Amino acid sequence: MQMKDEQLELIREQLRTIKDRSAFYAKKFEGIDVADVASQADFEKLPFSEKDDLRAAYPLGLQAVPDAEIVRIHSSSGTTGTPVIIPYTAQDVTDWAVQFARCFEMAGVNVLDRVQITPGYGLWTAGIGFQAGCERLGAMAIPMGPGNTEKQLRMMEDLGSTVLCATSSYALLLAEEISSRGIRDRLKLRCGVIGSERWGEKMRMRIQNELGIEIYDIYGLTEIYGPGIGISCSEHHGMHIFEDFCYIEVVDPKTGENLPDGEVGELVITTLRKQGAPLIRYRTHDLTRILPGDCACSCGERHPRIDTLVGRTDDMFKVKGCNIFPAQVEEVISITDGTSSEYQVMIENISGTDVMTVLFETSLEGDARHAAEEQLAAIFKAKIGCTPDAKGVPIGELPRSEKKTRRIFDSRY
Ligand code: ZN
Repeated sequence: MQMKDEQLELIREQLRTIKDRSAFYAKKFEGIDVADVASQADFEKLPFSEKDDLRAAYPLGLQAVPDAEIVRIHSSSGTTGTPVIIPYTAQDVTDWAVQFARCFEMAGVNVLDRVQITPGYGLWTAGIGFQAGCERLGAMAIPMGPGNTEKQLRMMEDLGSTVLCATSSYALLLAEEISSRGIRDRLKLRCGVIGSERWGEKMRMRIQNELGIEIYDIYGLTEIYGPGIGISCSEHHGMHIFEDFCYIEVVDPKTGENLPDGEVGELVITTLRKQGAPLIRYRTHDLTRILPGDCACSCGERHPRIDTLVGRTDDMFKVKGCNIFPAQVEEVISITDGTSSEYQVMIENISGTDVMTVLFETSLEGDARHAAEEQLAAIFKAKIGCTPDAKGVPIGELPRSEKKTRRIFDSRY
């Protein structure tokens, strides 16, 4: 993607002093005269920042301003060891809210909306980001946080919530609950702002159909502000990323080479204005592509778009010599007749042989279920290259969770 002149200017301004302000970058750019970066080509030669570098800087090694300027920290979930801590200045907090308010605006939210926020609050960036954006826009925030479905539904009905903010799996859980209680008519929901998880078209259609609302995907990660640095628009084709705050690249995850627009690779983000913890060429591990074409979106936004996430570079798993991404499994599920959106993949090693089982929910029974199992295995083989054992289970049997739903269980390691 062509870097805009204003973006290059902001990057150069950042680079001029970054080694003096930040021990992290003094080390990362050792031996590189970053003040010499004068073009996109120069910029693309700079080393990447990795999540492991950020972990190594624990707790506050990323901080690039004096202590007095830091007003808050957030932390990414430490499920895989040392957490990453991101310090924010007052300006960073404002900039994040500005972007999030824009997201709500693009989703058609206005001052009269009542926004039920179900993502978690705390060290995690989710809940508070939704809230700050909502308040900045001037809508009414209902800060529920996650869980307690009973109370969620009661508030939704009594307060007349019009906007639901949730992870996709919690939105599905709520949608199913609303449908089974038959209370849809008593609710005023009209729009969903759904974030933080890669999810399939089928799941989106289910939530959309059961709730009868328009759904917008929100993008973001704790290392770069949090959710709210981009969102899908009324066209529902990809997510706009705000180019006045972030510069995006897509690179080959193996070689690190920049890829042409339209090709799938790893999304790399550079913050243009962040003060507390600026990130230069940060590898997100999210796989996507930049939608080609300047200003091609008919919604009228100029901000570039990335496509729906295909997966994570580290989600890829290998069975019998095949590289498999969860998004491919989702595609197989979506084109098999009689399946719901829910599935699980189990991979085991039984006496030296890898065995992969795909469990999927279906309303079919008996011979019809058996036929769906055979169809799924055949499509899997044709699309991905290896044959799983496919097993249909009744709808509702696979777990739904309030946070991210785990779908791949690999017991080989
Ligand atoms: Zn658009």
